Amino acid sequence: MIPFAVKKLVFYAYKKGMVKMLGCIFCQVAAREKPATLLYEDDQCVAFQDINPKAPVHILVIPRKHISSLNDEIKDEGLLGHLLVVAGRMAREKSIDRSGFRTVINTNAEAGQTVFHLHVHVLGGRIMAWPPG
Ligand code: 5GP
Ligand code: ZN
Repeated sequence: MIPFAVKKLVFYAYKKGMVKMLGCIFCQVAAREKPATLLYEDDQCVAFQDINPKAPVHILVIPRKHISSLNDEIKDEGLLGHLLVVAGRMAREKSIDRSGFRTVINTNAEAGQTVFHLHVHVLGGRIMAWPPG
């Protein structure tokens, strides 16, 4: 029997995003347990190529800590800003900043979210349609 205090500690750590979500593929990418073409990393985030690109440039920027989506209670607003700063940096490195690029965060099923670890798509290298499908 697991003591209540231990359960509470684990739950607290999970809520704080300190525990890697078991089975989350993007947690595995961030921990380098799952191969990916990494383009950038720092203490807060990781950027890598999308495995099934929807444009000539398609990069994903993810927080290291597990956040399921924008529906989560996100206290670290600075982290969200950092993801966008890194998205812009990726666009510059891929030379799509001047031609134009799109940043997308899908949230839940109707928006098309399939991986429930927050990620910013950075798409470019072709003309984008508007409104999005
Ligand atoms: P979503 O549909 O959740 O907004 O976007 C998930 C994205 O993750 C998709 O564009 C999909 O191609 C990409 N993806 C899914 N699994 C993997 C993976 O194992 N590795 C990489 N690099 N991308 C993945
Ligand atoms: Zn995760």
